[in-house]
Amino acid sequence: MTAIFYSWFFPLLDDYESGLESPGAKGKKAIEVLKRKTLDGRLKTVFNPCLCGCQANDVTIATKDRFGIPLITVICTNCGLIRTKYFWDQKSTVLFYKQDFEKIYVVKNYEKFFETEVSTGRRYFDILGKCSVLPEVNSVFDLGCGAGGVLYPFLLNNKICSGCDYAQKRVVSGKKYGLDLYEGGIDLRKTALESQDLLILSGVFEHFADPLRDFKSATRVVKTGKYIFLYVPSITGSLINENPWNCIQNFHSFQFFHKWFLGLYFKELGFNIVYNDLGGIVVLRKTKNAFKKSSDKVELKFPKRYFYLSLALLMIQGARLQVRQIIVNILISLGIKKLFVDLGFS
Ligand SMILES: [Zn+2]
Repeated sequence: MTAIFYSWFFPLLDDYESGLESPGAKGKKAIEVLKRKTLDGRLKTVFNPCLCGCQANDVTIATKDRFGIPLITVICTNCGLIRTKYFWDQKSTVLFYKQDFEKIYVVKNYEKFFETEVSTGRRYFDILGKCSVLPEVNSVFDLGCGAGGVLYPFLLNNKICSGCDYAQKRVVSGKKYGLDLYEGGIDLRKTALESQDLLILSGVFEHFADPLRDFKSATRVVKTGKYIFLYVPSITGSLINENPWNCIQNFHSFQFFHKWFLGLYFKELGFNIVYNDLGGIVVLRKTKNAFKKSSDKVELKFPKRYFYLSLALLMIQGARLQVRQIIVNILISLGIKKLFVDLGFS
């Protein structure tokens, strides 16, 4: 009975051949290249286990991502996290960011892009201010910094800021603002072990090929007793977004987290939880016990309600999406799209 129920509702994105968001002509070409690379094994995928460490049954909720790229997305029946079932190995992940990422996610206007990052940075700065951690922060490092705009409000407040990203064009554009940025992952010759008071991982943790291993590696640059600021997509936070299904992307190893998982998980890893909200923002303090207890694997058992909560939120969002799609289809069939094109809006 349960299987019939699930198959009635999921997979949700099965029919979206072209994906949900238009990536533009150049982006579409790059997506085709990416699909070929995945099919012919140039980008290798491996089974991506759930971070809760449970071998519970997963339920498949989508077989394509937002661009229509084949991708099996599942929900864990233990903890309710939503993840990519087979994700790239570490080598393929790096290759994707070096070769394909900027071709698919094209920045049209670098100044505007930087401004958007700056406003995100201001939001983060305010949250950290409310947590009263800013007086303890002199150095800030942003892993996956893009053009580095998130760091800018910290720079203006006399913090020593640096960051790195694989997206070369973004790094080059950010350097113009006087930010100390470099291309690639963390380079310990440039960013020493235990050298930073604050590590920012904004929209990064969900991209890690092996989140525990990569998080452990990244937090090596944070001084003991200092802080990590995380932003990840959250199933509760996405409900207020316009189109939460846009989060399902082939370069996310995990699509949706929730605050109860994040609180328990990072506590288990030996971090203090300074702040944790429904929108996927967590501020952690690295204690001397970090990774002492759980170094390679975490095992967390969750009450069933977290799975049902994630499932219910997905269904609400899915229903919204389906209704929207129906409206769009009606408008298209009424020739509204052609009318817009004729009037010069494209
Ligand atoms: Zn799980």
